[in-house]
Parts: sequence; C-alpha cells; structure tokens
Amino acid sequence: MNEAFDSGILSRNHRSPEFVQLSAHTQQLLREKLQVPDDYYVFYTSSATECWEIVAQSLTKRKSLHLFNGSFGEKWFTYTSQLISDAEKIVFGINDVPPAICSTDDTEVICVTQSETSNGTMVPLSMIEKIKENNPHALLAVDATSSMAGIYLPFEKADIWFASVQKCFGLPAGMALLICSPRAVEKAFRMNNRRHYNSLILLAEQMKNFQTNHTPNVLAIFLLNRILQQLPDIHLIDIQTWKRAKLWYDFFLSLGKNSNTKLLISNSAVQSGTVIAIQSDVDMVKKIKELALKKQFILGNGYGMWKDTTFRIANFPAIEDLHIEQLKDTLKKIIFTE
Ligand SMILES: *Cc1c(COP(=O)(O)O)cnc(C)c1O
Repeated sequence: MNEAFDSGILSRNHRSPEFVQLSAHTQQLLREKLQVPDDYYVFYTSSATECWEIVAQSLTKRKSLHLFNGSFGEKWFTYTSQLISDAEKIVFGINDVPPAICSTDDTEVICVTQSETSNGTMVPLSMIEKIKENNPHALLAVDATSSMAGIYLPFEKADIWFASVQKCFGLPAGMALLICSPRAVEKAFRMNNRRHYNSLILLAEQMKNFQTNHTPNVLAIFLLNRILQQLPDIHLIDIQTWKRAKLWYDFFLSLGKNSNTKLLISNSAVQSGTVIAIQSDVDMVKKIKELALKKQFILGNGYGMWKDTTFRIANFPAIEDLHIEQLKDTLKKIIFTE
C-alpha cells in the first residue's frame, strides 16, 4: 500500500498510460502465475456477486441451469431467476458429486459453484470437465470465489470463471476477476445487450486497451499485481493447499468421536481444499468460536442452514503454517477441556 501511494499511481486516472501499463502487466502475471490461457479475457469487476449478474444479463437470453448444494450456488440461482425467465436448478446433496447432466438444447449457460464456501464442499474438476463435454451447446460458468489462486484451475475446461480477491488471493475486499473464453465474449456480442453499465461487451470493448468503462479499484489492481509477483506458480500453491487441507481433515478425524465435533462433509471426494467445515452442537460451536477469538483466531461462522451448528476454517494460501499449528493447539485445548 505504501508503495502504491509513493508511486503516484493512485492519483492517475484510468485512461492514463501508467494505469494501462499496470493493468496490462497484471494480466500478464495472471496468465503466467495462474495459467490463464492467452486467448481468455480478464475483466476487473467489483465482486463475485456482480459477476453473477453479468452472466445473467450479458450471456443468458432466457435459460440457464444451476447445479448447487449450498447458499452461494442458491443465491446465484435466485439473482438469475429475477433477471431471466427460465432459470432452472438441480440441487444435490452435500456429500454428493453433482450429476453429469446433459441439458436440453435450449440451455444457454450452466452455472456451477466450484468451491461452495457455505458448507466446505467442492465440485471435482473432473466433473466440471465432464459437464462441459456433455453440454457442448452451452456455456459453462464457474464460481471459483473461494478456490481461485488457492488451487490449480483448468481454465480451458469452462467458459466463464470468477472470484473476488478477498479469499484465496489474500487481498482486501473490493474487487473480483471475471475470466472469459473467446466463445463467451462472442456470445455476448451476438446477444448485444448494452443496457447495463457492466454489460460484458462494454467491458470487452474497453479491455482491448487494458481499460475499464468505469474507474476501477486501482489500489486493488496494484496490490494484485504485487501479490502475483510474489506468488510461485499455481501448481506449487495447489500442492501446498491440498497438503494443508489433508492435514486439517486428518486433524479433525483424529480428534475422534469423544470430541463432539466432526467434519460436516464425510465424502473425501467432495471435501473442499480451501474451506473446511466442522459440525458440532450449538453450545460447542459457540464455545469454540468464543475461546478461539480470545486467542485472536477469527473462525468463520456457519452459513445458511448450518449457521449455528458448524464453523469454518479458511485454508487459504496467505495463512502461515505457524498460525495453523497454533490454531490446532488452541482447538484441541478448547474441545477437550470443559
Ligand atoms: C464469497 C463468495 C461469494 C460472494 O463474493 P462477493 O465478493 O461478496 O460478491 C460468491 N460465491 C462464493 C462461492 C463465495 O465464496
């Protein structure tokens, strides 16, 4: 932040050569470090929520299909149903892999939440690939808000990916990335919806020059740039994330039945690598959150229907190993002392 301030970039407008250079460089870093394909577009938006709206407004005339098992997928569906006439849903169980559906020919966009942050499940990447294969007529849109930059994502296997930066990027909230295949942008141009300030074609027209149609969060782009410079290749981050996730899952399994806590998700094939959800009774969850907070650990509240009976641990790359060890010690003490 100091560097951004000292550099003067925060006083430059978003058509200035300084901004354009920062934007272009940041996109190049995203391609290098996260393996975003060269022909995919990268857009800056304000939030993942905005991306839900963009997908509905700019890429769906009538019909979308939403596969979900938790609150974020459901919210995406709900927003979309308010904007288009034919949003359909398939709800699957929290311990299930979503069905490899074959949608009807008139389905324009299939919407999948890769890491369902509300309950700590994920849609395996192999299933995303299968859904794509089974539905060549539709665009595949993936909400990767709590997994992008935490695990490797095969961008070429879907048309639309998005994530806000406050999760695995470890940045302050206030920006999201929307990553689109050439096919998705072509569809937006065919639909030619220009009615919204954030219509995808307006974004695409400005992004030819690495610019945005409204003044973007320049500080967030600067911070993203500097974080990306520090990051190793996503394949290395992926290995570390999954290693630490396994240690977290093993930790809770090892606490055993006497601990009055268990993993919310028992099927290891759908356990998220970046969000670990733990279930207990209302009193125990309350006690764990309160006592952990005294040690300065802010645990994620449960969400939606699991609000009072679960808590969530972020397994995000920015968290230090030392702090994970300290949190494990703290949890053990809380859980096994009255
Ligand atoms: C956090 C989150 C969102 C919402 O992100 P905003 O930046 O608040 O819009 C959407 N989807 C998922 C999966 C999330 O984890």
